[in-house]
Amino acid sequence: MPYLRLAIPSPLRRLFDYLPPQDCDTAALQPGVRVKVPFGRREVTGVLIEVSETTEVPLNKLKPAIAILDDTPPMPEAVLKLARWAGNYYQHPLGDALSQALPVLLRKGEPCEYTHQYLWRATAEADISQLGKTAARQRELLLLLMEHPNGISEGAIRAEGGQTGLLKKLVDKCLAESFIHKPNHTEHNDQPLHEAPLTLNTEQQQAVQQITATAGFKTYLLQGVTGSGKTEVYLQAIEHYIRQGKQALILVPEIGLTPQTVARFKARFNLPVVVLHSNLTDNQRLDAWLQAREGVARIIIGTRSAIFTPLRTPGVIFIDEEHDTSFKQQEGFRYNARDLAVMRGHFEQIPVVLGTATPAIESLYNAKQGRYQWLKLNKRAGDALPPKFELLDIRQLPLQDGLSQPLIQQIKAHLQQGTQVLIFLNRRGFAPTLMCHDCGWLADCRRCDAHMTLHRKPFHLHCHHCDSQRPVPTVCDSCGSTDLKPVGAGTERTEELLQALFPDFPVIRVDRDTTQRKNAMQHIMDRVHQGHPCILIGTQMLAKGHHFPKVTLVAILNADSGLFSADFRGMERTAQLILQVAGRAGRADHPGKVVMQTHHADHPIITSLVTEGYQAFAEQELSQRVSAQLPPSIYCAMFRAEANHQGQAERFLGRLRQLLADDILQPQGIQWLGPLPSPMEKRAGQYRAQLVLQSHDRKALHQQLHNIICQVDSDPEARKVRWSIDVDPVDMF
Ligand code: ADP
Ligand code: ZN
Ligand code: ZN
Repeated sequence: MPYLRLAIPSPLRRLFDYLPPQDCDTAALQPGVRVKVPFGRREVTGVLIEVSETTEVPLNKLKPAIAILDDTPPMPEAVLKLARWAGNYYQHPLGDALSQALPVLLRKGEPCEYTHQYLWRATAEADISQLGKTAARQRELLLLLMEHPNGISEGAIRAEGGQTGLLKKLVDKCLAESFIHKPNHTEHNDQPLHEAPLTLNTEQQQAVQQITATAGFKTYLLQGVTGSGKTEVYLQAIEHYIRQGKQALILVPEIGLTPQTVARFKARFNLPVVVLHSNLTDNQRLDAWLQAREGVARIIIGTRSAIFTPLRTPGVIFIDEEHDTSFKQQEGFRYNARDLAVMRGHFEQIPVVLGTATPAIESLYNAKQGRYQWLKLNKRAGDALPPKFELLDIRQLPLQDGLSQPLIQQIKAHLQQGTQVLIFLNRRGFAPTLMCHDCGWLADCRRCDAHMTLHRKPFHLHCHHCDSQRPVPTVCDSCGSTDLKPVGAGTERTEELLQALFPDFPVIRVDRDTTQRKNAMQHIMDRVHQGHPCILIGTQMLAKGHHFPKVTLVAILNADSGLFSADFRGMERTAQLILQVAGRAGRADHPGKVVMQTHHADHPIITSLVTEGYQAFAEQELSQRVSAQLPPSIYCAMFRAEANHQGQAERFLGRLRQLLADDILQPQGIQWLGPLPSPMEKRAGQYRAQLVLQSHDRKALHQQLHNIICQVDSDPEARKVRWSIDVDPVDMF
């Protein structure tokens, strides 16, 4: 008798056997179909892995499945294979990995069928003069419908500013009607472009040619300085695949997915572009997913999880800003979408392009090893000049709320010449902390090993690690003194100073606190793009995706901040961030200048970065990593654990290491580092520790991880701590 072997979303790392539902033709079942089953006291949706003739479960323990939910698997074979591969590689329970690859509604067992879409259009007899002058909104709406004779969705009407609530009024007057539209992937489009492509320069042309000449799978590292026209390369390569009837998948970092980015694709292509981002409703997400699967959507732009989007006719995958750490999921299923993209390209036999101005050291290593083909764009596109760097040595100089006098003078000069200034400070809030002037007491978080940030608007203390908040004390907790002073400067404080120094110019702050409301970022951008002189001050939200053609001065207030980080990637992150921020200046016809305030103006890494550029820096960094036996020259995995009491997590990880020390099956060539308390040991009330495993032999490492997990799963001590495993961690905290 056949059994259904299912992957079920649960923390257990195993598959589950069920009896088929009654009247089920098991011979016709395809792996990948969803099956509804009883699981504990709940009903859950599992994914069929195989139909098996045998089972190890005693017959009286086997339960029948409730229903088979699909005739054909929702995920195409390549995506199913990718999700299974990822579950395995990242040591994550398979059921949960597969479930995360599906849109929420499909996880819940909703039907997976792309049926139709309701669209609106004006009726054949509609005439605008039938609406009186007083019905201005209805007139607008009717005009909008008339502009779209093939129909327009309610979502698109709202996006154009139309009021869908008024549609019914138009229907009552026989001016509008809705109809069912069933788009078809074979619907041919002779004119896939809205606008003519730019004429490429030689470097761009070579990049497009190489990518589009790829037969089958190949990975490219497209390294182009900011402003070199990487996006134009994406657009023209995509055009090639579109003309062949294929689809393109573009992954962008979380904060890179701006309306500006999407607008460039929509402006170029006269084809359905779908965007997968975190603000979609479950219905919208399923709809976009299905449009991609049916081949109706031709261009799919999304953040990390979009790597699992099914494609009917896959053509090419782009990862924009490939060095960005948001491609790595930092909890639960800790996959790296960039690395999965390469694997997906391999499964689908299509090219994968990793684009960036500042490649991750990992990607650089892969390019040097010949695993990725390296394409370079060294010149800025058009006539734009690269920005000039200036190191401003602030040892000895008094700082006024983060700004030195020479910098203030330069800001003044640029504003007076009528251009814009961008100031980068990677610390939001008013001041990094509050200190007692009498005894040195600091306002620490009670739940973390960290200081609390002082905020002015509204006035409170806020921990940026655990989000706890409390009122600002009026007296010192330790000595009772009232002489409490903010220490250091955050964006709010520097904003206040700039406003006082330059009362005639707008100061616009861009950080998580000022951009929370919907469309806030868009309003800010609209203001800046009007082009009047102003000062922009903000955190890394300013560094990505946005173009500021009128900015001629970029100032980085604390360029040293990542220099002495506990994480070996601190230097790499700092360099990438500096260049990203610098890239905002001097686009188009305004030459730009970048001023970096630093206490380490003669630090070799900083000087090589500004005099020789990222490539020189990265080469140095890579050779240091190789000699220190750090990734990417070695494979790495990290166990993390956290518990309520100090030492508990560390003891648990120590046991783990001990358990395996005597194991004769232990693979050779594994290095253990730790267990050690995490660099920030206490966070959100939990005490944390970590244990790192390293090896030059990836297979041995994975074998060892597997052994450990088998041990942990049967260890009762494991239930007293929260533990997780992170394969190829990007963050050592
Ligand atoms: P990147 O993504 O590399 O930072 P973009 O693709 O945003 O660069 O291009 C920077 C600017 O240069 C954009 O305004 C773009 O329109 C322009 N540009 C790109 N390629 C060309 C070209 N071949 N000729 C003229 N302008 C170009
Ligand atoms: Zn005190
Ligand atoms: Zn905290």
